[in-house]
Amino acid sequence: MAEEVKNYDVIIIGAGPAGMTAATYASRAELKTVMLDQGIYGGQMNNTAEVENYPGYNSIMGPDLAEKMYASSTQFGAEYAFGSVTSVDVSDRKNKVVHTDMGDFSAPAVILATGSEHTHLGVPGEEDYQGKGVSYCAVCDAAFFKGEHVVVVGGGDSAVEEGIFLANIVKEVTIFVRGDKLKAQPILQERAKQKDNIRFVYNTSVTAINGNEEEVQSVDLKNNETGETSVFKTAGVFIYIGLKPNTASFKSMGITNQNGWIKANERLETSIPGVFAAGDVLEKDLRQITTAIGDGGLAGQEAYNYVSSLG
Ligand code: FAD
Repeated sequence: MAEEVKNYDVIIIGAGPAGMTAATYASRAELKTVMLDQGIYGGQMNNTAEVENYPGYNSIMGPDLAEKMYASSTQFGAEYAFGSVTSVDVSDRKNKVVHTDMGDFSAPAVILATGSEHTHLGVPGEEDYQGKGVSYCAVCDAAFFKGEHVVVVGGGDSAVEEGIFLANIVKEVTIFVRGDKLKAQPILQERAKQKDNIRFVYNTSVTAINGNEEEVQSVDLKNNETGETSVFKTAGVFIYIGLKPNTASFKSMGITNQNGWIKANERLETSIPGVFAAGDVLEKDLRQITTAIGDGGLAGQEAYNYVSSLG
C-alpha cells in the first residue's frame, strides 16, 4: 500500500541555521511547517567547537547554539522530521512533492537550505583532528592559533584569501600548493606575496596529519616532482581545496549554476515559483551562520507571502 503523503504549507529541506530560522519565521506566520534533515538539526554548527562571531554570545559551542536555535525554531509549532531528500517534484504548483527515504511530503512552498560541504583531503588524521587543529574555516578558527605557525592546503582563491586572513592573526602561514602555480586571482596572489609571514611551497601534497590525539603537531608532505617525503611541524591545518553544495537532489530542477550552487534573486526566489533557497547552498560570497540566518528569515517570510498569494 502506498504511504500517505504528509501535507504542509511549507517544507524546509535542511535544518541548519538557515532552515531553522526559516522555520521560525514561517511557523510564527502560522504556516504549517516542517523541516526535513538527513541528520541531527544544527547542520555544520554541530561540527564547530566554539563560535565567537555570533551576535549575543562572546563565545558559544556550536552544538549549544544548535540546541538554542532548535528550541526557538519549534516554539511556534514547526516540526522536525528525519529523512534524506532524494528529489522534489514541482509539476503541481500548489502541491509540490518532496520525496525522501522516509516518505513523501507535499506543500505549495519549498525552501532549499541544504548547505554545503567542504571538500576533504581524504588523508589519515584529517577526520580525527577536526576541531583539534584541522579546520575548514579561518574566519571561525584563526583566533585559536595566535602566535602559532599554521599551514594552508590549496592554491585557489579561498586558500590564498584565507591565508591572508590568517596571516593577520597567526605568527606564520605556509601555503602548500599541489601544482607548480597558484590558481587564485592575480590580485590575491599579489596581496599574499606582500605579507612577510606567508610562504608558498609548490608541488607539495599533504599526505597525513599527525598529533598526540589532543591536537595537531605536524603534517607529512610529499614533493610531487621528486617524490621526496618530509615532516613539517605545525599547530593548525586549514584545508581549502573547495566547497561543494549539497544540491545533488535538486539537479534536475534547473536552478543551479555550473558549479551546483542555487541561483536566487534578492527575495531568495529561485526560477520556480514557490521554491526558495537560503544559506550556504546559495550562490554567494560569505558562508557563515549570520548570513545563513539572514537568508532563512527572508525565505521564511517570502514563503508566507507566496502561500498567502495562492488564496
Ligand atoms: P548547513 O549548516 O550546512 O545545514 C544544512 C543541513 O541540510 C544539514 O543539517 C544537512 O544534514 C541537511 N541536508 C543536506 N542535504 C540534505 C538532503 N538531501 N536531505 C535532507 N537534509 C539535507 N560560521 C560562523 O558564522 N562562525 C563560525 O565560527 C563557524 N565555524 C565553522 C566551523 C566549521 C568546522 C565549519 C564546517 C563551518 C563553520 N562555520 C562557521 C560556517 C557555518 O557553519 C555555515 O555557514 C552554516 O552552518 C550554514 O548554514 P546552512 O543552514 O546554510 O547549512
